[in-house]
Amino acid sequence: MKTRFLSRWMIAIIIVSVSFYGCSNQDEDFDSITNNVVDPVDNGNTNGGTTGGGTAGGGTQASTQGEITLYSVLGEAIQLQVNYQVTGQDLTYQNDVARHQELWGQTKDVVPSSHRNYMNEFMIYNGEITGSAGYVYETASDLSTWQMGLAINYADDQNELLYTIIHEFGHILTLNNTQLDASVSSGACGNYFPGEGCSKAASFINKLYDLGWADIWSEYQQAQGSETALQAFYNQHQDRFVTNYAATNPGEDIAEVFATFVTMSGQPAGNTIAERKILLMYDEPELVTLRDYIRSNLFGNRKSVSLTPGSWSRANTIGTHTSSYCGVTNRH
Ligand SMILES: [Zn+2]
Repeated sequence: MKTRFLSRWMIAIIIVSVSFYGCSNQDEDFDSITNNVVDPVDNGNTNGGTTGGGTAGGGTQASTQGEITLYSVLGEAIQLQVNYQVTGQDLTYQNDVARHQELWGQTKDVVPSSHRNYMNEFMIYNGEITGSAGYVYETASDLSTWQMGLAINYADDQNELLYTIIHEFGHILTLNNTQLDASVSSGACGNYFPGEGCSKAASFINKLYDLGWADIWSEYQQAQGSETALQAFYNQHQDRFVTNYAATNPGEDIAEVFATFVTMSGQPAGNTIAERKILLMYDEPELVTLRDYIRSNLFGNRKSVSLTPGSWSRANTIGTHTSSYCGVTNRH
Protein backbone atom coordinates (compact mmCIF):
# COMPACT_ATOMS: atom_id res chain seq x y z
CA MET A 1 0.00 0.00 0.00
CA LYS A 2 2.86 2.31 0.67
CA THR A 3 3.97 2.13 -2.90
CA ARG A 4 0.49 2.60 -4.11
CA PHE A 5 -0.21 5.43 -1.75
CA LEU A 6 2.97 7.27 -2.52
CA SER A 7 3.83 6.41 -6.05
CA ARG A 8 0.76 7.78 -7.58
CA TRP A 9 0.26 11.43 -7.28
CA MET A 10 -2.24 12.86 -4.96
CA ILE A 11 -3.86 16.18 -4.68
CA ALA A 12 -3.89 16.96 -1.06
CA ILE A 13 -5.05 19.88 0.91
CA ILE A 14 -2.42 20.31 3.49
CA ILE A 15 -3.31 21.99 6.69
CA VAL A 16 -0.19 21.76 8.74
CA SER A 17 3.39 22.60 7.96
CA VAL A 18 4.84 19.19 7.49
CA SER A 19 6.86 17.75 4.71
CA PHE A 20 5.28 15.27 2.40
CA TYR A 21 6.84 11.87 2.42
CA GLY A 22 8.76 11.30 -0.72
CA CYS A 23 8.45 14.84 -1.92
CA SER A 24 11.22 16.37 -3.84
CA ASN A 25 11.28 20.09 -3.30
CA GLN A 26 13.35 20.93 -6.27
CA ASP A 27 11.22 19.91 -9.17
CA GLU A 28 11.72 22.42 -11.91
CA ASP A 29 10.34 20.44 -14.78
CA PHE A 30 6.89 21.79 -14.70
CA ASP A 31 5.40 19.51 -17.28
CA SER A 32 6.44 16.35 -15.57
CA ILE A 33 5.75 17.20 -11.99
CA THR A 34 2.75 16.31 -10.03
CA ASN A 35 0.40 18.46 -8.10
CA ASN A 36 0.63 17.59 -4.50
CA VAL A 37 -0.22 20.69 -2.63
CA VAL A 38 1.04 21.67 0.71
CA ASP A 39 -0.70 24.52 2.31
CA PRO A 40 1.68 26.41 4.55
CA VAL A 41 -0.80 27.10 7.30
CA ASP A 42 0.74 26.38 10.65
CA ASN A 43 -1.95 25.59 13.12
CA GLY A 44 0.53 24.47 15.71
CA ASN A 45 -0.53 20.92 15.27
CA THR A 46 2.63 19.61 13.78
CA ASN A 47 3.69 16.96 16.21
CA GLY A 48 3.06 13.34 15.63
CA GLY A 49 0.51 13.08 18.36
CA THR A 50 1.27 9.48 19.14
CA THR A 51 -1.20 8.07 21.53
CA GLY A 52 0.11 4.57 21.89
CA GLY A 53 -1.66 1.75 23.60
CA GLY A 54 -4.43 -0.32 22.21
CA THR A 55 -4.28 -3.46 20.21
CA ALA A 56 -3.22 -3.57 16.62
CA GLY A 57 -6.37 -3.53 14.60
CA GLY A 58 -7.78 -4.97 11.51
CA GLY A 59 -5.81 -6.58 8.77
CA THR A 60 -2.20 -7.12 8.04
CA GLN A 61 -1.44 -4.14 5.83
CA ALA A 62 0.78 -1.57 7.47
CA SER A 63 -0.44 1.98 7.73
CA THR A 64 2.38 4.20 6.50
CA GLN A 65 0.62 7.44 5.65
CA GLY A 66 -2.18 7.45 8.16
CA GLU A 67 -4.37 4.96 6.31
CA ILE A 68 -7.09 3.58 8.56
CA THR A 69 -9.79 1.92 6.46
CA LEU A 70 -10.21 1.60 2.72
CA TYR A 71 -13.64 1.01 1.21
CA SER A 72 -14.79 0.07 -2.25
CA VAL A 73 -17.58 2.25 -3.57
CA LEU A 74 -20.52 0.23 -4.82
CA GLY A 75 -23.15 2.70 -5.93
CA GLU A 76 -24.90 3.90 -2.79
CA ALA A 77 -22.87 1.77 -0.42
CA ILE A 78 -19.28 1.37 0.61
CA GLN A 79 -17.81 -2.04 1.27
CA LEU A 80 -14.83 -2.77 3.50
CA GLN A 81 -11.71 -3.47 1.48
CA VAL A 82 -8.82 -3.05 3.91
CA ASN A 83 -8.55 -2.37 7.60
CA TYR A 84 -4.98 -1.24 8.16
CA GLN A 85 -2.87 -2.23 11.12
CA VAL A 86 -3.34 0.63 13.53
CA THR A 87 -3.19 1.25 17.25
CA GLY A 88 -4.27 3.82 19.79
CA GLN A 89 -6.38 6.68 18.53
CA ASP A 90 -6.32 5.34 14.99
CA LEU A 91 -7.78 2.08 16.22
CA THR A 92 -10.55 4.04 17.88
CA TYR A 93 -11.13 5.79 14.56
CA GLN A 94 -11.08 2.46 12.76
CA ASN A 95 -13.65 0.96 15.07
CA ASP A 96 -15.97 3.93 14.64
CA VAL A 97 -17.64 2.48 11.58
CA ALA A 98 -20.71 4.62 12.18
CA ARG A 99 -18.54 7.71 11.70
CA HIS A 100 -17.16 6.27 8.47
CA GLN A 101 -20.72 5.88 7.26
CA GLU A 102 -21.53 9.46 8.23
CA LEU A 103 -18.56 10.73 6.22
CA TRP A 104 -19.66 8.61 3.29
CA GLY A 105 -23.18 10.02 3.63
CA GLN A 106 -21.81 13.56 3.45
CA THR A 107 -19.71 12.60 0.46
CA LYS A 108 -22.84 11.33 -1.28
CA ASP A 109 -24.50 14.69 -0.59
CA VAL A 110 -21.79 16.19 -2.81
CA VAL A 111 -21.13 13.39 -5.29
CA PRO A 112 -24.34 12.21 -6.98
CA SER A 113 -24.86 8.65 -8.17
CA SER A 114 -24.38 9.87 -11.74
CA HIS A 115 -20.75 10.66 -10.94
CA ARG A 116 -19.94 7.92 -8.45
CA ASN A 117 -18.62 5.68 -11.21
CA TYR A 118 -15.57 7.95 -11.26
CA MET A 119 -14.94 7.18 -7.62
CA ASN A 120 -14.32 3.52 -6.88
CA GLU A 121 -12.47 3.86 -3.58
CA PHE A 122 -13.05 5.80 -0.38
CA MET A 123 -10.33 6.05 2.26
CA ILE A 124 -10.69 7.00 5.89
CA TYR A 125 -7.31 8.14 7.14
CA ASN A 126 -5.57 10.19 9.79
CA GLY A 127 -4.27 13.40 8.26
CA GLU A 128 -1.56 14.12 10.83
CA ILE A 129 1.27 12.53 8.87
CA THR A 130 0.48 14.11 5.53
CA GLY A 131 -1.07 17.21 7.03
CA SER A 132 -3.97 16.87 4.65
CA ALA A 133 -7.70 17.09 5.18
CA GLY A 134 -8.57 15.33 1.96
CA TYR A 135 -7.06 14.12 -1.27
CA VAL A 136 -7.85 12.36 -4.51
CA TYR A 137 -5.72 10.26 -6.79
CA GLU A 138 -6.41 8.15 -9.80
CA THR A 139 -6.87 4.40 -9.30
CA ALA A 140 -6.76 3.66 -13.04
CA SER A 141 -4.03 4.82 -15.37
CA ASP A 142 -6.61 6.02 -17.88
CA LEU A 143 -8.03 8.35 -15.17
CA SER A 144 -11.44 6.68 -15.31
CA THR A 145 -11.57 5.92 -11.58
CA TRP A 146 -10.37 7.73 -8.49
CA GLN A 147 -9.92 7.32 -4.78
CA MET A 148 -11.08 10.03 -2.42
CA GLY A 149 -9.63 10.18 1.06
CA LEU A 150 -11.02 12.09 4.01
CA ALA A 151 -9.05 12.74 7.19
CA ILE A 152 -11.29 11.60 10.01
CA ASN A 153 -9.29 13.59 12.55
CA TYR A 154 -9.98 16.85 10.70
CA ALA A 155 -13.61 16.14 9.94
CA ASP A 156 -15.28 17.54 13.04
CA ASP A 157 -16.06 20.96 11.57
CA GLN A 158 -18.91 20.17 9.21
CA ASN A 159 -18.48 23.26 7.05
CA GLU A 160 -14.78 22.60 6.58
CA LEU A 161 -15.48 18.97 5.81
CA LEU A 162 -18.12 19.75 3.20
CA TYR A 163 -15.95 22.38 1.58
CA THR A 164 -13.12 19.87 1.42
CA ILE A 165 -15.36 17.26 -0.20
CA ILE A 166 -16.61 19.78 -2.78
CA HIS A 167 -13.06 20.89 -3.55
CA GLU A 168 -11.85 17.28 -3.93
CA PHE A 169 -14.82 16.38 -6.08
CA GLY A 170 -13.86 19.37 -8.21
CA HIS A 171 -10.54 17.65 -8.90
CA ILE A 172 -12.21 14.39 -9.95
CA LEU A 173 -14.63 16.28 -12.16
CA THR A 174 -11.89 18.11 -13.99
CA LEU A 175 -9.18 15.43 -14.22
CA ASN A 176 -11.12 12.30 -15.19
CA ASN A 177 -10.95 10.58 -18.57
CA THR A 178 -13.80 12.59 -20.08
CA GLN A 179 -11.63 15.66 -19.56
CA LEU A 180 -8.08 14.44 -20.08
CA ASP A 181 -6.39 11.94 -22.34
CA ALA A 182 -3.77 10.13 -20.27
CA SER A 183 -2.22 8.55 -23.35
CA VAL A 184 -0.99 11.87 -24.72
CA SER A 185 2.35 13.06 -23.38
CA SER A 186 3.09 16.65 -22.51
CA GLY A 187 5.25 17.00 -25.62
CA ALA A 188 2.41 15.92 -27.87
CA CYS A 189 -0.23 17.94 -26.02
CA GLY A 190 -1.51 21.04 -27.76
CA ASN A 191 -3.69 22.04 -24.84
CA TYR A 192 -3.04 22.58 -21.14
CA PHE A 193 -1.21 19.64 -19.60
CA PRO A 194 -2.08 19.29 -15.89
CA GLY A 195 0.30 16.41 -15.25
CA GLU A 196 -2.01 13.41 -15.47
CA GLY A 197 -2.61 13.71 -19.17
CA CYS A 198 -3.39 16.11 -21.95
CA SER A 199 -6.53 18.16 -21.42
CA LYS A 200 -9.06 17.95 -24.20
CA ALA A 201 -9.73 21.18 -26.08
CA ALA A 202 -13.24 21.54 -24.64
CA SER A 203 -12.33 20.36 -21.15
CA PHE A 204 -13.15 22.53 -18.17
CA ILE A 205 -9.53 22.96 -17.18
CA ASN A 206 -8.35 23.85 -20.68
CA LYS A 207 -11.00 26.56 -20.94
CA LEU A 208 -10.02 27.89 -17.54
CA TYR A 209 -6.36 27.85 -18.54
CA ASP A 210 -7.08 29.75 -21.75
CA LEU A 211 -9.11 32.32 -19.88
CA GLY A 212 -6.91 32.96 -16.89
CA TRP A 213 -3.48 31.39 -17.16
CA ALA A 214 -2.18 31.20 -20.72
CA ASP A 215 -1.09 34.84 -20.93
CA ILE A 216 0.71 34.78 -17.57
CA TRP A 217 2.08 31.24 -17.74
CA SER A 218 5.76 32.14 -18.11
CA GLU A 219 5.39 34.69 -15.32
CA TYR A 220 3.85 31.99 -13.15
CA GLN A 221 6.66 29.55 -13.92
CA GLN A 222 9.26 32.14 -13.05
CA ALA A 223 7.46 32.82 -9.78
CA GLN A 224 8.05 29.21 -8.71
CA GLY A 225 11.53 30.26 -7.64
CA SER A 226 10.52 31.43 -4.19
CA GLU A 227 7.60 31.86 -1.87
CA THR A 228 8.05 35.63 -2.08
CA ALA A 229 7.87 35.52 -5.86
CA LEU A 230 4.76 33.39 -5.80
CA GLN A 231 3.07 35.74 -3.36
CA ALA A 232 4.05 38.67 -5.60
CA PHE A 233 2.57 36.81 -8.56
CA TYR A 234 -0.66 36.39 -6.66
CA ASN A 235 -0.72 40.01 -5.55
CA GLN A 236 -0.17 41.12 -9.12
CA HIS A 237 -3.04 38.99 -10.43
CA GLN A 238 -5.38 38.88 -7.47
CA ASP A 239 -8.44 39.68 -9.55
CA ARG A 240 -7.95 36.45 -11.44
CA PHE A 241 -8.33 34.17 -8.43
CA VAL A 242 -11.27 33.28 -6.21
CA THR A 243 -8.92 32.54 -3.31
CA ASN A 244 -5.19 32.77 -2.67
CA TYR A 245 -5.09 29.00 -2.76
CA ALA A 246 -6.41 29.03 -6.31
CA ALA A 247 -3.20 30.68 -7.47
CA THR A 248 -1.27 27.54 -6.54
CA ASN A 249 -1.75 26.02 -10.01
CA PRO A 250 -4.56 25.58 -12.56
CA GLY A 251 -5.60 22.30 -10.94
CA GLU A 252 -6.14 23.93 -7.57
CA ASP A 253 -7.64 26.94 -9.28
CA ILE A 254 -10.39 24.94 -10.94
CA ALA A 255 -11.17 23.04 -7.72
CA GLU A 256 -11.51 26.39 -5.92
CA VAL A 257 -13.57 27.90 -8.74
CA PHE A 258 -15.87 24.89 -8.58
CA ALA A 259 -16.21 25.19 -4.80
CA THR A 260 -16.97 28.90 -5.15
CA PHE A 261 -19.43 28.27 -7.98
CA VAL A 262 -21.26 25.78 -5.76
CA THR A 263 -21.24 27.74 -2.51
CA MET A 264 -21.96 31.22 -3.90
CA SER A 265 -25.65 32.02 -3.82
CA GLY A 266 -25.85 33.51 -7.31
CA GLN A 267 -23.87 34.43 -10.38
CA PRO A 268 -21.12 37.00 -9.97
CA ALA A 269 -22.03 40.42 -11.26
CA GLY A 270 -18.60 41.70 -12.20
CA ASN A 271 -16.24 41.09 -15.05
CA THR A 272 -12.95 40.20 -13.41
CA ILE A 273 -11.21 37.08 -14.62
CA ALA A 274 -12.01 35.40 -11.31
CA GLU A 275 -15.69 36.11 -11.90
CA ARG A 276 -15.48 35.03 -15.52
CA LYS A 277 -13.99 31.72 -14.37
CA ILE A 278 -17.09 31.16 -12.25
CA LEU A 279 -19.30 32.16 -15.17
CA LEU A 280 -17.51 29.58 -17.32
CA MET A 281 -19.05 26.95 -15.05
CA TYR A 282 -22.53 28.36 -15.62
CA ASP A 283 -22.02 27.61 -19.31
CA GLU A 284 -21.60 23.91 -18.57
CA PRO A 285 -24.93 22.09 -18.08
CA GLU A 286 -23.24 19.20 -16.27
CA LEU A 287 -21.76 21.55 -13.69
CA VAL A 288 -24.98 23.50 -13.22
CA THR A 289 -26.82 20.24 -12.53
CA LEU A 290 -24.17 19.28 -9.99
CA ARG A 291 -24.40 22.69 -8.35
CA ASP A 292 -28.16 22.28 -7.97
CA TYR A 293 -27.75 18.79 -6.55
CA ILE A 294 -25.17 19.81 -3.97
CA ARG A 295 -27.00 22.98 -2.97
CA SER A 296 -30.30 21.20 -2.49
CA ASN A 297 -28.60 18.64 -0.28
CA LEU A 298 -26.52 21.07 1.75
CA PHE A 299 -28.73 24.11 1.91
CA GLY A 300 -32.13 22.51 1.58
CA ASN A 301 -34.57 22.19 4.44
CA ARG A 302 -33.13 19.07 5.88
CA LYS A 303 -29.65 20.45 6.48
CA SER A 304 -28.33 23.55 8.11
CA VAL A 305 -25.00 24.23 6.57
CA SER A 306 -23.27 27.57 6.57
CA LEU A 307 -20.86 27.59 3.68
CA THR A 308 -19.73 30.73 1.98
CA PRO A 309 -17.09 31.18 -0.69
CA GLY A 310 -13.65 31.66 0.73
CA SER A 311 -14.73 30.68 4.25
CA TRP A 312 -12.54 27.64 4.12
CA SER A 313 -9.62 27.95 6.53
CA ARG A 314 -7.10 27.20 3.78
CA ALA A 315 -8.53 29.67 1.31
CA ASN A 316 -6.19 32.45 2.30
CA THR A 317 -3.02 30.56 1.83
CA ILE A 318 -1.08 29.87 -1.28
CA GLY A 319 0.96 26.84 -2.21
CA THR A 320 4.64 27.55 -2.47
CA HIS A 321 7.34 26.29 -4.70
CA THR A 322 9.11 24.45 -1.94
CA SER A 323 6.02 22.80 -0.60
CA SER A 324 3.51 22.72 -3.43
CA TYR A 325 5.08 20.48 -5.96
CA CYS A 326 6.23 17.13 -4.95
CA GLY A 327 8.21 14.85 -7.14
CA VAL A 328 6.06 11.84 -6.52
CA THR A 329 6.76 10.17 -9.79
CA ASN A 330 5.90 6.88 -11.44
CA ARG A 331 3.43 8.55 -13.62
CA HIS A 332 1.71 6.29 -16.03
ZN1 LIG B 1 -6.93 20.56 -4.18
